[in-house]
Formats: sequence, structure tokens, C-alpha cells
Amino acid sequence: MHEIQIAPADVDRLTGLLSRERKDQFDAVAAGARELLGGRVVWNVNATAHGGGVAEMLQTLLANARGVGIDTRWLVLSGSPEFFAITKRLHNVLHGEPGDGGELGAAEHAVVAEALRPDLADMATLVKPDDVVLLHDPQTAAMVTPLRETGAKVVWRCHIGRDTPNALTDLGWAFLRPLIEAADAFVFSRRNYVPRWMASEKVHIITPSIDPFSAKNAPLSDADAEATLGYAGLLGGARDPRALTFTKRNGTVGTTRPHRGLDLTGGTIPCEARLVVQISRWDRLKDMTGVMQGFADAGLPGDVHLLLVGPEVSGVSDDPEGAGVLAECRSRWDGLAREEQSRVHLVCLSMDDVDENAHLVNALQRRASVVVQKSLVEGFGLTVTEAMWKARPVVASAIGGIQDQIVDGENGLLLEDPHDLDALGRALARLLEQPDLAAGLGNAARATVHERFLGDRHLEAYADLFGTLLV
Ligand code: UDP
Repeated sequence: MHEIQIAPADVDRLTGLLSRERKDQFDAVAAGARELLGGRVVWNVNATAHGGGVAEMLQTLLANARGVGIDTRWLVLSGSPEFFAITKRLHNVLHGEPGDGGELGAAEHAVVAEALRPDLADMATLVKPDDVVLLHDPQTAAMVTPLRETGAKVVWRCHIGRDTPNALTDLGWAFLRPLIEAADAFVFSRRNYVPRWMASEKVHIITPSIDPFSAKNAPLSDADAEATLGYAGLLGGARDPRALTFTKRNGTVGTTRPHRGLDLTGGTIPCEARLVVQISRWDRLKDMTGVMQGFADAGLPGDVHLLLVGPEVSGVSDDPEGAGVLAECRSRWDGLAREEQSRVHLVCLSMDDVDENAHLVNALQRRASVVVQKSLVEGFGLTVTEAMWKARPVVASAIGGIQDQIVDGENGLLLEDPHDLDALGRALARLLEQPDLAAGLGNAARATVHERFLGDRHLEAYADLFGTLLV
């Protein structure tokens, strides 16, 4: 288990974006939360420091909480390949998908408990009886009961789910129930994700937020986005490829390095190309191959290129399926016609510096003519929020938390059936042919994020939760 250091955010910058009334409300809520928590530490535990929405969200949430004087910390559990194989299985079944089809029974309970034993021993030396522990996602489920026995208040937050339960989700919840049932409170991103047996008075619905000043979302001019992508090796013939600086999460300044993006397809992306971009972990539920096929079938103009972008895949990770999914994408790309191949790019972004990776994601999202998120299931979908904040027109599946962000035709376009590749092609063509429509949707999208998905909203929701927990 290791701790991630989070520098306090300068919350004045955040509140500088808010109306007077909203700022005053935020200040009052923050003061109330400080008083309520007293000297307590709020611990967060999850499975990974980077890669994926939970790590992204924790960065923002903790920096803001620390910025308003709440002592909150972040621990990442150690895990093992066997442990992550089981937790990925759970992740899949809770989304209603079979995954590797393996067992979820007593033997798996034992593997999970054994893998978490050293982390729980570490926590026993850190967590005081009055502290609050926020455990994130199924990987942490078996920590609920042991941590409650220390006297801490334990909240289990689940970032995933499926709109309509099926036999597989039931299987996943049957595995989790004995592990989590004793928690003091539960947090979900959507009401539909809450299993029926859960005590409703313990359940809170909280949506994530983004940090408008992080390397991922900070303002970046068109020229700087192009310079970054040229320097990263992703745009051929960029006018002025050069290193740029960005602010790291620890508050220091980083500089981009050349060739941080690897185009596995070896093609060149001309700098004048219009880009359709999906950025995701290499997870089957993100349906990268479906996006590829829909794009190839759509017959879009020759200057439109598709970039399917994800993190480089290496080593032990909490996502053991990544390499296999990337290989599937590669083999589907091999099957495309040559002309299509020249306009479809599988891109892996270097992960050795998460802030530099975030800066590249920022540049890609800003340079995109259209951002796609054609997931088959989606807990919330931070990539959607990030693109909306950048006023990009987004085409995304009408599933999960995406439906809480996009209203079709108002601030983006929704695909009613995520498997309908023709609908994807039509939506892309519409946005590429109608720049005014695209710009209008993008501007409305930014307003939505401003209203609902900035850090003040997120902290206020937690303050409510602490209010019920610590009375
Ligand atoms: N992401 C990233 N680099 C990548 C791919 C994804 O930083 O190469 C980030 C992305 O910007 C977003 C998060 O990973 O912040 C994905 O969160 P989301 O909620 O969309 O999906 P999840 O991965 O949690 O299923």
C-alpha cells in the first residue's frame, strides 16, 4: 500500500469561476464541514493512482478538500495479479457482462481477503478510531468490516453499475453483499445502480467532478494544442512543434517531451486533418473496435481521421485485460481496407508521467472536431465531462452516467443503442457537416459542466454525507 501526496488546490481559482451566491454557499459549506470533522482525517482507498476515472476524480476531490482545510489522504492498495483478475471479473459482472466467466465464490473471497491483509495491517497503524474512511469500488470491499472494527466510520463508494440489473449483476452483488453490508454509508453515481437489498437511508447519490485547472483541463490555445501534438509525434507537419509547460498535481511545473504518443498504426496524422477522438482505457466495455467499424463504414470525407487513444499497457495493473483489448483493436485495424487504415489510428500515450499524459489528453480533446464515447456501459464517464468542459461536441451512448450529462440535441448527441454503428456514423457526419450545430452543442456542454460538475458541487455533496454520518 502506498500513499499518494496531494497538494492543496488554490480554491480561490475555483471559486473565481462561480457566481457570488454560489461562492458564498461553498464557503459556508466548507466551514461547516471543517467544524464537523474537527481533527478527523478522511482517508480514501482505491486500486490505482492513475489510469481511469476514479484516480482522476480523487485527484480533484482531494486537492479541493485539502484546499479548504480538510485533512484528507489517499492510499492505493497493493493487490496481486490473482486479486486483480478477480476484481476485474467483479467489475465486468457488475456491468452485466460475463468477462472471463470465472467463479465468484468462497475461494475468491479468500484470495481477496488474503491480498488485502498487508494493506489492512498498514491501515491499522494509520487510521484513528474517529476517522472517516472512504473505500472506492469493489477492490476495497473486503476492507469494510475490518476497518469498521477499528472504530472508524466507513463509507463504500461504487463508481460503476448498470442501468438495468441482470443475472450477472446479481451474481456480483451476491459476492459483495457480505463484504460491504456493514458499511456506515454507501455512495453511487446513479440511483439505478443501487442494489435492491441496500438500506436506502444509508445510500447517497454523488456525481464526480473535474478540475478546470489541472493539466488535463487547463486552458490551452489551439496553437499550443497543435504544438503539443506535433511535439508528441501525433501530428505530422505541425506548424510549430515545441515543448510546453504544464502544472503538475504536486504544484510543480513539468515540460512535455518529444514522442510521448505512440501511433501503433504507423500512419501520419496530417496537421490539417479533422479529428474524431475517443480516449479510454483499453477495456472492452469502451467498445473501441465498434467505434473503429462505425467510423470505417460511415464514408466520411478524406480529411477526417479517427484516433482511438488509451494509455500504454505494461506491467501489473488493476486492469489485466488491457493488453488483450489493445491486441483485438490492432487485429481489427489489420482487417480494414488500406484507405481506411490511413485514417484510423490506435494511439498509446506514455504513462510514465501522469501529468504529461494529462496534458496530451487535454491537447487531443481540444484538437478534436468531435469527441466520441461509445461505451457499452459507463458508470459516469469523466471523458465526457472533460470534453464538454472544452466545449467539444460529444457523441456518446445513452447509457449510465452519460445520460446525466448529455441531453440529446441540447449539449451533445446521444446514441440510443450503443451497438448501432450506423447511428454513430450519422451523428459524426452531422456534426462534421454542420459546424454551427457542433459549436452550439459544445457551448451548451461547457455550461452544463460549469453548473453541475465542478468541485464545489462535489464537496458540497460530501459535506451532506458527513453531516449524516457524524451526528
Ligand atoms: N485517461 C487518461 N489517459 C488515457 C486514457 C484515459 O488520462 O490514456 C483518463 C481520462 O481522461 C479520464 C479517465 O481516464 O479522466 C477515464 O475516466 P472515465 O470515467 O471516462 O472512465 P473509466 O476509466 O473510469 O471507466
